[in-house]
Amino acid sequence: MSIVTIPAQTAEVVYKADVVVVGGGPAGIGASVAAARQGANVMLLEKRGFLGGNITSAYVETCNHFFIYNGFESYGIYKDIEDKYKEKFGDSHNLRKPPFRFSSEYFKIFIDEYVTNAGVKILLHSTVRDVIIEDDKIKYVIVQTKEQPVAVECGMVIDATGDGDIAYRAGVPFEMGRPQDGLCMGGTTNFRVAGVNTERILQYENDLSTVGEMYRQAVRRGETKEVENPREYPPMGRLTPGGQVTYINYADVHNINPLKIEDLTKAEIKARRITLQMYNYLKNHYEGFENSELSAIAPEMGFRDSRRIQGLYKLTKEDIEADKSFEDGIAVFPRFYDYFSQDGKQDGDGTWELGRPIPPWIFQPSYDKRCYEIPYRCLVPGKTENLLVSGRCISADNLAESSIRAIFACMQTGEAAGTAAAIAIKEGVTPKGVNIAKLRETLKSNGVVIEKNL
Ligand SMILES: Cc1cc2nc3c(=O)[nH]c(=O)nc-3n(C[C@H](O)[C@H](O)[C@H](O)COP(=O)(O)OP(=O)(O)OC[C@H]3O[C@@H](n4cnc5c(N)ncnc54)[C@H](O)[C@@H]3O)c2cc1C
Repeated sequence: MSIVTIPAQTAEVVYKADVVVVGGGPAGIGASVAAARQGANVMLLEKRGFLGGNITSAYVETCNHFFIYNGFESYGIYKDIEDKYKEKFGDSHNLRKPPFRFSSEYFKIFIDEYVTNAGVKILLHSTVRDVIIEDDKIKYVIVQTKEQPVAVECGMVIDATGDGDIAYRAGVPFEMGRPQDGLCMGGTTNFRVAGVNTERILQYENDLSTVGEMYRQAVRRGETKEVENPREYPPMGRLTPGGQVTYINYADVHNINPLKIEDLTKAEIKARRITLQMYNYLKNHYEGFENSELSAIAPEMGFRDSRRIQGLYKLTKEDIEADKSFEDGIAVFPRFYDYFSQDGKQDGDGTWELGRPIPPWIFQPSYDKRCYEIPYRCLVPGKTENLLVSGRCISADNLAESSIRAIFACMQTGEAAGTAAAIAIKEGVTPKGVNIAKLRETLKSNGVVIEKNL
């Protein structure tokens, strides 16, 4: 393979902000809104044409289904968003039972306004492709545009890219995937079906869940050979009066690296093939789907993990199993794992406990009151003096990541990072120098639960 040198380029410094948040998914929303509410001047840079991350780009409309069993209640910016969204869009035309589900389309509209009203300057279609470091600080982030690249001068930077792109560019060490070979969890492309017979679907004992359960049994009986996916259960989203199933979470592709374009290309194409196979299976086998159509395929495959940055502390599965508290705890989250198979193997019963080998997949919603705290140090890279990380790429081992990757947790690590960045700007300190008592006090006064059993 030959190598070419990319000629040096210049970029006009078009923008300047106290806090620059990169990535407008759950973490970036939490981070930008929190920093702005603390009085910082904030810019949010998002590579797509809309905010929301996986909620909107991968149709992940159901955020908190894994703790409906234990009465755990969300808080902080996530709760504020859910409450205000409900005021405006009610139950998103959902005929199914709880949990609550967003509409990813209403969410796009809602979140534009919510983030803008907080005083955040949003820039869409803005892929951050590089950083310029001076004195171990990110002085500028470089945004790729259709014209010349542009530079944004930064006070603090929050990496909310899901993939840890900014930390990577800044040279922060990271881990990826499972320990033995670095393989990440499979990716999934959700799809929508329109024109289902809602009356018929609602006659099933548990509406769409019954359809999912019938499909599970069909897989076990070996009757789904035409669908190239070993997974048994296909979770489904809202059922609307207009006859739409707003997502079917099933088209999985395994053994891929979410950072490699060759892998991504093969995966997107394979997932679309599986989508059609699965749609045809549903249409041909289940009453209510006979006259339906495949109405949408999510714009991009959704990923569950990739880079996990090395921070001042690494949250581990042992911490979660010990229901651990930390002096610098910035969020509380229930013990929960959604560890999706990396290579497609589905062995085991989906459960796991410390001391047992880790099975290929784990799905453990929270049935009890067990909770753990996430320490601030997981958001602070050991390297780079004005960078914080939030969302699924914070410092955690791979099993702990399968817990903190939940949308609510990502928004809360975002809220903590945004609050810390604003404090750091105000007090002229680095993220490492932020007064923890003050950070915790501020979060608490904003309704964030930072200690267990409160
Ligand atoms: C199929 C599927 C089902 C899931 N189901 C659930 C569920 O039911 N409940 C739940 O809680 N979680 C679920 N998850 C997990 C959850 O969606 C993610 O863990 C969560 O969205 C991560 O949030 P984030 O903000 O860290 O990253 P993301 O949601 O990935 O957002 C990152 C944002 O950064 C932007 N970005 C990336 N790189 C750059 C760059 N260089 N420059 C500018 N912008 C950039 C992206 O476009 C994106 O908008 C699911 C995930 C998948 C894939």
